[in-house]
Amino acid sequence: MRIAVIGTGVVGRTVAARLAELGHDVVVGTRDPSVTRERTQPDRFGTAFSTWLEKHAGLRLETFEAAAAHAELVVNATSGLVSLDALASAGAANLDGKILVDIANALDFSKGMPPAVRASSEESLAERIQTAFPGAHVVKTLNTMNAFLMVDPAQLAGGDHTVFLSGNDASAKARVSELLRSFGWRDIIDLGELSTARGTELLLPIWLSLMSALGIPPSNFQFKIVR
Ligand code: NAP
Repeated sequence: MRIAVIGTGVVGRTVAARLAELGHDVVVGTRDPSVTRERTQPDRFGTAFSTWLEKHAGLRLETFEAAAAHAELVVNATSGLVSLDALASAGAANLDGKILVDIANALDFSKGMPPAVRASSEESLAERIQTAFPGAHVVKTLNTMNAFLMVDPAQLAGGDHTVFLSGNDASAKARVSELLRSFGWRDIIDLGELSTARGTELLLPIWLSLMSALGIPPSNFQFKIVR
């Protein structure tokens, strides 16, 4: 499948690399490819973007707009505080009729750690994205865990933990579930309409508390629903 991953942070890089490994035609979107290519300093994960891109020769780096235009399916892996702006740069016409997988959380790091979680029980970021881009089929998923677990659940507890899915379009959710299964997910809970993303976005405060209380790396714990 032709996939655009909008975002060059650890989530965008991790998801893009895994999708390419699975044989998809993946373009990564960024505001200004020439500026992003110049990122030669390691980030907090120890990798410079330029080094990462060299190691993944199959991946192309384009503007948000060119990446989205290329794709059948678009992944939003931008900072949740600016996702609406980033997707507007991608262009509403380039999202029309496409599945838009939203992984973003609106975390505000301006006052340091832990970040403030800009989530609401009245409206999720995913719903705001859906309202802004009515032609897209928004599916919220993967936002409740660390980036490395998103694409490789088996690295924790043999993959015996849970990923949630919210969206208004059943066929879009079915396509996204297929992608999740290709990553190794087995326990996929479809919560229902996109409004259920309010709940998964509101899991972030407890997720952040767990990170602090458990004192273990964020890819070493995850939510599991027992029933
Ligand atoms: P991030 O630092 O939150 O976001 C990086 C992306 O945001 C970059 O592509 C950047 O564009 C874009 N961006 C930043 N400011 C912008 C602006 N003013 N206008 C347009 N775009 C802008 O990256 P991340 O840590 O990989 O997280 C991505 C998303 O996944 C976030 O919403 C985060 O909350 C969510 N998430 C993260 C994790 C995790 O483990 N980190 C886990 C679950 C969910 P450029 O490419 O041009 O720099």
